[in-house]
Amino acid sequence: MRVRVDAAGNIRGVHAAASDTARRLYIGSHLDTVPHAGAFDGVLGVMMGISLVESLRGRRLPFSIEVMGFSEEEGVRFGIPFIGSRAVVGDVDAALLAAPDASGRTIAQAIGDFGLDASRMADARVTSNPLGYLEFHIEQGPVLDHLGQPVAIVDRIVGRSYADVTFVGSAGHAGTTPMDARKDALTGAAEWIGCVEAQARQIGGLVATTGRIDAAPGAANVIPGHCRVTLDVRHGDDATRNAAVDRLRSAAREIAARRGLTVEWLPRFDHAAVAMHPALVAMLTRAVERTGATATTMSSGAGHDAMILAPHMPAAMLFVRTPGGVSHHPDESALEGDVAVALAAGANFLDELAGGSGSEDPPLQP
Ligand SMILES: [Zn+2]
Repeated sequence: MRVRVDAAGNIRGVHAAASDTARRLYIGSHLDTVPHAGAFDGVLGVMMGISLVESLRGRRLPFSIEVMGFSEEEGVRFGIPFIGSRAVVGDVDAALLAAPDASGRTIAQAIGDFGLDASRMADARVTSNPLGYLEFHIEQGPVLDHLGQPVAIVDRIVGRSYADVTFVGSAGHAGTTPMDARKDALTGAAEWIGCVEAQARQIGGLVATTGRIDAAPGAANVIPGHCRVTLDVRHGDDATRNAAVDRLRSAAREIAARRGLTVEWLPRFDHAAVAMHPALVAMLTRAVERTGATATTMSSGAGHDAMILAPHMPAAMLFVRTPGGVSHHPDESALEGDVAVALAAGANFLDELAGGSGSEDPPLQP
């Protein structure tokens, strides 16, 4: 492959096609990970792309293949995820480059420190007429392990709503204020947190998490007057997710009113679900079936680079079983046999794409 590092720090290798004017298939995942992580999240997908090109043994296809190892997918340093894949689709602007890390160093400066030139970001963009994007990634959850299956085809990446919910009451003396005269923000929040879990359990596929709670003033002998809770809600269907968020918001108001509290609801972001391309999903399904493995389809509850690429070109993803569902942890692993199945499916996928993409009428449109 012809290899370069682009201005966002993505490492990219191109396996040329039989013709110079051919379209290009992108195969990628991310190179970075989180602190105290495992060895498979992200980088397995990059290695598998390289391995697939290697398996061609120099054979030229009707399309070129570019393997992309994306930088900064997790957003650990700057609190902003997907910087590498955003650069590839032209979604890195001056405001993003000016974002600072904890020490005040900006993304543009960090790129310079790494020996790259942030002013050349436009060179990172994918060029004309992409054929599609394929990503291999560990599942990072327990579903395939429970099913006893090696791989799954991803049909969509779920949508996500994130909000800060603050219950406000009155701080007071823990010894002198009778129970019926209290406006305890933390007990109001606690009732609502139980309600979040109960409601999420009633809706298939919905996950809701209250991952952080801060009570103030935060002393053992003071009734909490303020309590802030984070809410993270995800579902593959946007209408279902939005309806669930509305219900949780009503429940917070009802609980607050009954307890003499007020509630402030601050939406942080709402990301719509991102569907993978139906034709590529079908092609990947056939590719898995031809390996003899069961072609399970599932939604991804986590965000991936594929959701950044999907609005710009047909995209597809294949999950590899994660033993025990353990990820973002040193015990994260993958089974050699599962990776072999995924690689065989990848080879089948390339074969079918090579058969269909030589015609004048391209089989895939975004
Ligand atoms: Zn990842």
